Amino acid sequence: MSTFQDLGLNQDLLQAISDLGFTKPSEVQAKAIPILLEKELDLVALAQTGTGKTAAFGFPMLQKIDVNSRTTQGLILSPTRELCLQITNELKQYGKYCKGLNVVSIYGGSSITDQARDVKRGAQIIVATPGRMKDMINRRLVDISKIEYSVLDEADEMLNMGFYEDITSILSHTPDEKNTWLFSATMPKEVATIAKKFMNNPTEITVGSKNVSSENVKHEYYLVNSRDRYLALKRLADLNPNIFSVIFCRTKRDTQKVAEKLIEDGYSAGALHGDLSQNQRDLVMKSFRNKQIQMLVATDVAARGIDVDNITHVINYQLPDEIETYTHRSGRTGRAGKKGVSIVIASKSEVRKIKGIERIIKKTFDKKDVPSGMEICEVQLVSLANKIHTTEINSEIDPYLENINSLFENTTKEELIKKFFSVEFTRFYNYYNNSKDINQSGGDDSSSYNENATRYFINVGKKDGYDWMQLKDFLKEVLELGQDDVFKVEVKDSFSFFNTDVKHQPKVLEFFTDFKQNGRFVNVEISEDRGGGRSRNRNKRRDNRSSSRSGGSRRSGGSRNDRSGSGGNRRSSSKNSGNSRPRQSRR
Ligand code: ADP
Ligand code: MG
Repeated sequence: MSTFQDLGLNQDLLQAISDLGFTKPSEVQAKAIPILLEKELDLVALAQTGTGKTAAFGFPMLQKIDVNSRTTQGLILSPTRELCLQITNELKQYGKYCKGLNVVSIYGGSSITDQARDVKRGAQIIVATPGRMKDMINRRLVDISKIEYSVLDEADEMLNMGFYEDITSILSHTPDEKNTWLFSATMPKEVATIAKKFMNNPTEITVGSKNVSSENVKHEYYLVNSRDRYLALKRLADLNPNIFSVIFCRTKRDTQKVAEKLIEDGYSAGALHGDLSQNQRDLVMKSFRNKQIQMLVATDVAARGIDVDNITHVINYQLPDEIETYTHRSGRTGRAGKKGVSIVIASKSEVRKIKGIERIIKKTFDKKDVPSGMEICEVQLVSLANKIHTTEINSEIDPYLENINSLFENTTKEELIKKFFSVEFTRFYNYYNNSKDINQSGGDDSSSYNENATRYFINVGKKDGYDWMQLKDFLKEVLELGQDDVFKVEVKDSFSFFNTDVKHQPKVLEFFTDFKQNGRFVNVEISEDRGGGRSRNRNKRRDNRSSSRSGGSRRSGGSRNDRSGSGGNRRSSSKNSGNSRPRQSRR
């Protein structure tokens, strides 16, 4: 079956579908809709986020309920307020030609009397969070004794959130002969238990294989000591100046803490978890969608089902308890044909779990080294240079130029460039100068470490049309080296890194002293430490944490204010200098 007509949907729905511009049913829709329309049965449907589950249960429910009756016939339970609103909104759009249809959402944090009033007006479908629903049942503000269809949406997440009791209690107020449709992205034991307990011989449909991760997502892990997680996170952020990411923590507390620290350290970050008020959550999501926030630190629950495009990195600050949740997290990136990276900041004890995840997602993780401070300095400098290079000149500054020009009358261009970049570089340098190597040895990838390797920086990257394989081929060719002589090639936007054996170092440097490509010098320099090896970092000094802390408390208040939502400021400051972070944390 390939069209909505074939699925047996009525004219009202088909018209709305055509208005929405849906041309063909998604896989879960094609599988679920005909069964649900034809038969009265219980259903378990497993499909990832973003596969169109709302319509898969929404269309059949809309077609089956009687809009001429004011009785509540359908109940949809969903884990969060955001999802309730999203589902309600979708159902209203799907049912816009179903005359008399009334869909009401019920969730905490809003007036219960208003919601009760809306229900009283005759809601054929209620979309609710379990907590508020239970509350309203207890206060006799809703009657769900005549429900014919109940949906448990994002069932795994509702159970993760501890809604088991609430769900049990709610379902006990519904008639036994109703149909229950359970939708979930993963099928942990708890969901299987619910299916067994509350459902009658459910039909099961699965879309895709249960835990396949997108082809577009690369999986990486960094091995650090648990107490260095935050430092590692900062370095990863600094290494990727244009990062747009969701950072997952396990608890609300960690989520809040990590977000606060990032904000204190001058990053554009925000927290999303269940202890925030609705208003706060809405604000954070809005800023994230607008990209005013580059790093959203979230719990699994709060981030569930929320669609944001173009996420470059998913960072697992800690691994989830359920291995399956990992699939869910990593699925936030690599969408719509874009590439993405899913990163795990792992402690030694988590390596085994990573192996478990590899088996389930059928992908292997690359073990990466946390970049050294000096490498980050390089990246930031090059990134800044590129930004400056591509910046359009703003002629509003013209009137002030005379004074500026006279100030630099006797400064050569070379000197000026050095001075200019020193402003930025010194900040980073001061911060990272004393930074220690935070890579943990161990795990089982010691083979990738080569004591006799040299790490190089080269000023060509993706922008010049290279991926790592092409760069490796290019280097092998021009340097006349063999297949294994160039390794750990890492290509960034406008520059890259690679390693060779120390013995090739003179040859490499010699060759690139005056090498030009497309009229431009290709520079190669030895990258300070890292890459080739953690132990090459001779003086294992520590990141200067005490000063970072005192910097936080002495800060003049500017950046703390950013937390309360002056997104515009934060954005422009982070835009103009993604490099302000270390300075802020050092002040
Ligand atoms: P899920 O619940 O599986 O995460 P949603 O039901 O929220 O997914 O759907 C994700 C998005 O896809 C929504 O914006 C929805 O409007 C859209 N969508 C759903 N079905 C189709 C379809 N058949 N064709 C195009 N877009 C669709
Ligand atoms: Mg959904």
